[in-house]
Amino acid sequence: MWKYASKLHSRRLGGPLVRHYRVLAIESSCDDSCVALLDKYLACDPPKIIGQSKSTLNSAKEGGIIPTAAHEFHQMALADLVQGFCAEHNLNSHSPPDLICCTRGPGMVGSLSAGIQTAKGLSIAWNRPLIGVHHMLGHVLTAILPKKSQPDLAPPRYPYLSLLCSGGHTMLVLLKSITDHKILINTSDIAAGDSIDKCARVLGIEGNMRGKELEKYVANIPEDLKAKFSRINTNSADNEFKLQMRLPLKGPSHLKVPDVVEFVFSQFQSTLQRFKEVNFPDQNIDKVTKQFVAYKIQETIFDHLIDRINIAFFKHGLSKNGDGELAGVRDFICSGGVAANQTLRKKLSENLTYDTNLQLSPDDMVFHFPDIALCTDNAVMIGTAGIEILENLKVKSDLKFLPIRRWPMNELLDVDGWVGVSDAEFHEIRKF
Ligand code: ZN
Repeated sequence: MWKYASKLHSRRLGGPLVRHYRVLAIESSCDDSCVALLDKYLACDPPKIIGQSKSTLNSAKEGGIIPTAAHEFHQMALADLVQGFCAEHNLNSHSPPDLICCTRGPGMVGSLSAGIQTAKGLSIAWNRPLIGVHHMLGHVLTAILPKKSQPDLAPPRYPYLSLLCSGGHTMLVLLKSITDHKILINTSDIAAGDSIDKCARVLGIEGNMRGKELEKYVANIPEDLKAKFSRINTNSADNEFKLQMRLPLKGPSHLKVPDVVEFVFSQFQSTLQRFKEVNFPDQNIDKVTKQFVAYKIQETIFDHLIDRINIAFFKHGLSKNGDGELAGVRDFICSGGVAANQTLRKKLSENLTYDTNLQLSPDDMVFHFPDIALCTDNAVMIGTAGIEILENLKVKSDLKFLPIRRWPMNELLDVDGWVGVSDAEFHEIRKF
């Protein structure tokens, strides 16, 4: 057995012989069926992506994801996807991966179940350990993978901040370790990505991923026109487009520094709906107005994100009014589907007040922007998080674990289904 394992699991990396282990990961929490294969070499190095594959439910006609349709989609798509992927990467009973990971939650229970059942089946068939991974931890940990746009960047070091910004979640999390997470800002209604999608729909922007289409639409507006738009104040409707779109939570009745800092996003869609009903009852918005509204929506939603994060910086910063919770933070990760938006990335880099509130010079704060392909849901992040859980916490999942619809990130280990991994099993998996 040792001979076989040694041959299969060792490789010469331009130097001494090092062993590695392979991880098959499955993600199915929402409307993406995803599978990936990772290779993990030294404990201190990030895993290597061997391959990944994805199939997405098209909900363009429905205008949103219907949970039952997503469940059905995964049941039809996932097994087929995994079978083809395993054949392509020579994964079978003679050459199984060393570890299997799947998303346990949070997410749609039906969608999660499809991935979990497939992963459990493979775990039994190949007699390999299984880890049920927290989806949001996966998004955060994509930051430890090498980034094409930032090839020389070292992985983030605890404590660090992560802005998770997607169609399902919008939160700012302070991570002090793999299990010590504090949610500093959460959304009080819907997620930023959901709000952007809904606004794009009201504006008549088509596509399966309307948020992405909206970004493209705004990017294609001529620069001189955007410069003109940026000078138009929409605090009142007293402008040439009659659009009133303010930053939320900034009225006279709102505290400058609230006890609980929250994001709110649902009002953007209702503002837009009202604007359309009043000014364009026949539904046909002229081209320039559409461009202006699209531009302002994106700007205002992102400015709201920045505004709330700056309040959290003030509250938890190092000034005399801050509680100092953010002391030592030097890395800021922006992950999730909306994080792929270039306008948001620019605003985060330029408009956060870490200089005054965290007493850092511009070079002291490092922004991590995971590759765009890894910002949307994918299985690479699930495999990466599974590896971190195995190596740092030495736990795996039992075969009885159920999907979890709501699973706060700071309760990673407070759920049933975790079992310890013995030293012998740990070394058997890692083969180092
Ligand atoms: Zn996600």
